[in-house]
Amino acid sequence: MIDEMDALVLTGPGAFEVRRVPIPTPEPDEVLCKVRAVAICGSDPEIIRGERAGIWPPAYPFIPGHEWAGEVVAVGGAIHGFRVGDRVAGQAHKGCGFCDECLAGRYNLCKNYGKPGTGHRHYGFVNNGAYAQYNAYSPKSLTPITNEVGFREAALIDTAGGAMHAMKLTGVTLGGTVVVIGPGPIGIIAMRAAKFLGASRVIVVGRGERLQTASRLGADAVVNFETDEPVSAIRSLTGGTGVNEAFECSGAKGSLCQAVEMVRRGGRIGLVGIPDEAIREEIPFRYVVSNEITICGSRANPNVSGPILSLLAGGVLKLRDLITHVFPLSEFRSAFETFIERRDGALKVVIEPNGACE
Ligand SMILES: [Zn+2]
Ligand SMILES: [Zn+2]
Repeated sequence: MIDEMDALVLTGPGAFEVRRVPIPTPEPDEVLCKVRAVAICGSDPEIIRGERAGIWPPAYPFIPGHEWAGEVVAVGGAIHGFRVGDRVAGQAHKGCGFCDECLAGRYNLCKNYGKPGTGHRHYGFVNNGAYAQYNAYSPKSLTPITNEVGFREAALIDTAGGAMHAMKLTGVTLGGTVVVIGPGPIGIIAMRAAKFLGASRVIVVGRGERLQTASRLGADAVVNFETDEPVSAIRSLTGGTGVNEAFECSGAKGSLCQAVEMVRRGGRIGLVGIPDEAIREEIPFRYVVSNEITICGSRANPNVSGPILSLLAGGVLKLRDLITHVFPLSEFRSAFETFIERRDGALKVVIEPNGACE
């Protein structure tokens, strides 16, 4: 048995290299997985550049990466329900399992966040992640995937979960109109999901190539905020009424206020994009109160991986066409630059640490 693997190792803020490291040994309650595909997430650049060093990651050296799929290669002695050879998709959050948030199923809000001794894990953020040939995981962070779903697509189950969790929190009005602000990968998935959850019309707000992509992939209407004031554009596209639900997927300053002004009476807002810590928003307080507007913060993707897998397997949700680039782990630097510079229309960039998987 080989005992070393290739991994992307962060050695300090903004400093990284692909090098040989020991393969992790699974604890009795862990599963060792061979990572077949791992997608670069919008949150990875912040971690790689060390903008939150001390928290994400807590210390160096560190292996990031959390949107992945692969196969089980070894199981700890206390594992039931997983076997060598199982195909699985990962999710980043694994709660302690005993705090009241975990007991209520809200393990994304675990009170023991960042305390590994309690059993809490946040793979790729606090605990080593998937930009490696192998990693050991709690089975609670794994969803078995069926054969009709490929590893590359399955790596995007975590990405899709961000949109689906917000939509579970707000609901989507049957026959209603939805606006999605920010046509990145999560925004485009939100646009598609709004349709199969019952919206009759989805409008996407953004700019540039990504807005064109949203248009090509099925938006009913698009608003370019560089040329049109987005709130009045949405009002005029809805006959002055506003939309039933707004999903904010950009995290940009000013867009929460815009979302509030875009929704109709009784409208609901899902906040998916992660804003900079320093951003403060001024919202029309009275308008929110007197129009009974609901604003839902949404963190990560609890309890949605299984349903997303079923939607993928059933052909209801498509993710494959969001993957624009695939690289081996040895070319991580090019992959990362392609992603952050959005080279050649880059949307989702997938890394294959163990060779081509399809
Ligand atoms: Zn992610
Ligand atoms: Zn907990």
